[in-house]
Amino acid sequence: MLEVRHLTKRYDRVLALDDVSFRVKEHQVMGLLGVNGAGKTTALSIITGCMPPGEGQVLLNGMDMQEQPRACRRLIGFLPEEPPLYNEMTVEEYLHFVCRLREVEKTEIPEHVEEILEKTALKDMRRRILGHLSRGYRQRAGIAQALCGAPPVLVLDEPTVGLDPRQVTEIREMIMELGKEHTVLFSSHILTEVQQICSGILILHQGRLIHEADMSGLEDGAEKQTYTMVVLETEGDVPAAIRSIPGVRKVRGIQRGEGRCRMTVECSGHGDDVRVRIFHLLSSMNAPILQLSAQRNSLEDVFLRVTGEGEAKS
Ligand code: ATP
Repeated sequence: MLEVRHLTKRYDRVLALDDVSFRVKEHQVMGLLGVNGAGKTTALSIITGCMPPGEGQVLLNGMDMQEQPRACRRLIGFLPEEPPLYNEMTVEEYLHFVCRLREVEKTEIPEHVEEILEKTALKDMRRRILGHLSRGYRQRAGIAQALCGAPPVLVLDEPTVGLDPRQVTEIREMIMELGKEHTVLFSSHILTEVQQICSGILILHQGRLIHEADMSGLEDGAEKQTYTMVVLETEGDVPAAIRSIPGVRKVRGIQRGEGRCRMTVECSGHGDDVRVRIFHLLSSMNAPILQLSAQRNSLEDVFLRVTGEGEAKS
């Protein structure tokens, strides 16, 4: 669907992108992860045809962005870091306006705008002036304008930045929902965010693509999580009991001594549900958990190595 080949971009002395290549498959939600200055905005601006690359190619369904910019841009809806809103227009007027710019058939515009208002939960705000909207609703309006013309590919630059926690959750849920119908590429500097939403992750650092992870083959679209545990084994076989919990893949490295059982528990999906199940089961077995710690997965290791722990937890 979307392919980037050997993208390189230099601003004077700064090499913002250095030979970046990747593919995004149809209906994939791909996260482009990197700290400030990693090159995310530059990459997305080139991919959406807003800026020419120094070197390299952007292909959409095999068409080259530089050779067929008009046809390629029709396939992409773009939310830049600052949504391009006309503050004096109402939400509805603005979406009609963007539809006309995107050459949506005049007779189809009302129904199309209705669908977009529904998808972005903006129906109640349709008559509000854009300049009067809260940051969260402005971001929804920004996503709504990206949907005008029904482009198959959505490119979103840091869509959750500057939002409060509730708005962040709403926008993340919206992106996951949009991923059912669109191919989505979005940038973020928050590892947990891309792990939560994406089926694929690209890590950019100082203009280079340093890691790619495809998570689509894993259960629940989530990564494996591993815990180290120490449990007081007062009665029954604790490792055997933990093995029977849904979501537990493997219990290994079992060591027993002084009534304690130390083990490593591999779970599929994110750990919260599995940890709750482990807690209830062990509590019913009268087996207190003395220690439970999550081991980092490979993606966390890569991200923390290049960014430093503090930023990854932001
Ligand atoms: P942020 O999250 O802060 O927006 P980013 O990952 O999107 O960061 P870019 O904005 O693409 O990164 O910037 C990549 C590098 O290029 C940075 O070092 C930045 O300072 C530099 N840069 C970006 N735009 C320009 C410009 N117009 N002129 C000169 N240097 C630039």
